[in-house]
Amino acid sequence: MSLIESPRKVEDAIYDRLLPSGEGWTYELQPGQVLRIIDLEGNQAVDTLFYDADNLEDHYSAVATITGQHNLYLTTGTVLRAESGKALMRIVADTCGRHDTIGGACSAQSNGVRYDRSLEWMHNCRDTFMLQLSRYDDRLQKRDLAPNINFFMNVPVAPDGSLEFADGISAPGRYVELESLAHTLVLISNCPQLNNPCNAYNPTPIRLVIWEN
Ligand SMILES: [Zn+2]
Repeated sequence: MSLIESPRKVEDAIYDRLLPSGEGWTYELQPGQVLRIIDLEGNQAVDTLFYDADNLEDHYSAVATITGQHNLYLTTGTVLRAESGKALMRIVADTCGRHDTIGGACSAQSNGVRYDRSLEWMHNCRDTFMLQLSRYDDRLQKRDLAPNINFFMNVPVAPDGSLEFADGISAPGRYVELESLAHTLVLISNCPQLNNPCNAYNPTPIRLVIWEN
């Protein structure tokens, strides 16, 4: 696992925003723009989707991304690919070193199955994604929700293919930085999950910074 720091300075950014846990965010990146996602307090799960903004039916694909790089884990050098194979983003810096693209987003159903049937009503990333999507373009529906990336989440995959939601390896101030290779819509749900021990039952804010290049 190699950790790569970024040469970019926050003073040079064109955008800088604090996003509390439980909130959603959309942004259209132009080709060449660079997005940094900062895990301000450590081990926050940042559930993220990417769409080709010029063709919203084409969205991030975990399968195309993993097969394209012959590696299950996402870190510096990873090219995030859409269903069509189109390159949407490239990870250009990473001080955490591991990000999950298998575990999916939390939902009312997963609250019920993973934690307790009585918790289905609680906030979840799938609802946040759907709310943000419908505000962005009312033609987007549930079927447009695709597999997502969970930045800063550590989900090791065992040789037998089983998944484990392990303790995080991120820490306060760690970040991942992505260069947009296309006109890319980014959709984030900063996870509101209060039932997951891997964030110590305490979801925390993130910071989003964008540079022109
Ligand atoms: Zn979540």
